Amino acid sequence: MNSERWLRNILQRDDTMSEIANNKVATVHYTGTLPDSGEVFDSSEGRDPLTFLVGHKQMIPGFEKELMGSKTGDKVEFTLTSEEAYGEHNPDAVQQVPTDMFGEITPEVGMTLMSDMGPFRVTEVAEESVTVDFNHALAGKSLTFNVEIIDIRDATDEELSHGHVHGEGGVNHEEETAGEPAKDCNDDGCC
Ligand SMILES: [Zn+2]
Repeated sequence: MNSERWLRNILQRDDTMSEIANNKVATVHYTGTLPDSGEVFDSSEGRDPLTFLVGHKQMIPGFEKELMGSKTGDKVEFTLTSEEAYGEHNPDAVQQVPTDMFGEITPEVGMTLMSDMGPFRVTEVAEESVTVDFNHALAGKSLTFNVEIIDIRDATDEELSHGHVHGEGGVNHEEETAGEPAKDCNDDGCC
């Protein structure tokens, strides 16, 4: 193999190593807006950037799909349909609950509360009943993201087996005793 070709192989390899792909740890700044109103629903601006393990269902599916192949320094803008984001709004997940079931809590529109069936939002309060919505607040909505790729690195074997990022921007477990998983990391890899 001549040296020029050898060099080209190295360069190409290096190139693919710094692209967002499954099993990479990506660090990004992002701003999410609702395309209809321009309202910002979430942003890392003024905070630490977001770090996530690619291909392990940490992010909504369309978000990762759109970033595949991006490199450090890239700025990407895309709009996801609700199917690619938080799914359709399911009308069956909107329910009427008698007010007295809230006990001590006085339900107010916009509150998010936890139940045995998961979190829900209060969407309407009437005299005797309260309308609650178990859908994700962004279900049924198209979402626009502006993303800047800050850093891309390979995940460690340990991160891959846990299904999440360790260290900066990720999960910091208690010190692990030899051979035993950390107490704060359960079998699902969810801490
Ligand atoms: Zn872990």
